[in-house]
Amino acid sequence: MILFNLRCAEGHTFEAWFRNGDTYERQAKAKAVACPLCGSHSVEKALMAPRIAKKRGREEAPQQAVAPVAPGGGEMPAEDRAKAAELLRALREARRLVEANCDYVGDRFAEEARRIHYGEVEKHGIYGESTLEEARALADEGIEFGRIPWLPRADQ
Ligand SMILES: [Zn+2]
Repeated sequence: MILFNLRCAEGHTFEAWFRNGDTYERQAKAKAVACPLCGSHSVEKALMAPRIAKKRGREEAPQQAVAPVAPGGGEMPAEDRAKAAELLRALREARRLVEANCDYVGDRFAEEARRIHYGEVEKHGIYGESTLEEARALADEGIEFGRIPWLPRADQ
């Protein structure tokens, strides 16, 4: 059995079961299919958009959990895309603030953070790169720093 969404000449849509696609074609051609609302025998297959959309939503959900997050689009549902876009905006804003207020020290971050911490240089905001080991060492020494995912700017 196969369920078709049908639409009559008046624009009414309704569902009807058929043994198979051929049965539908035969019955439609023989005017044996009538619109339940107006009785019109002029019917054609309608797009099954709502039904398909629901089904796809359920089937795609498990895939989303394992799929890598694709910032800015891909196959993510609109809701996830919106969240991802929001996160990207927040991270880009974080980067902008850091760049506007801190001095870039490149891979000398750990060294510079130490100099500031121990008062060897005037306190100022810095940013740069550090290895995981350096970051751990800094944390062990009680030096405050933050780590943020460093995203390309929107204009890059
Ligand atoms: Zn009708």
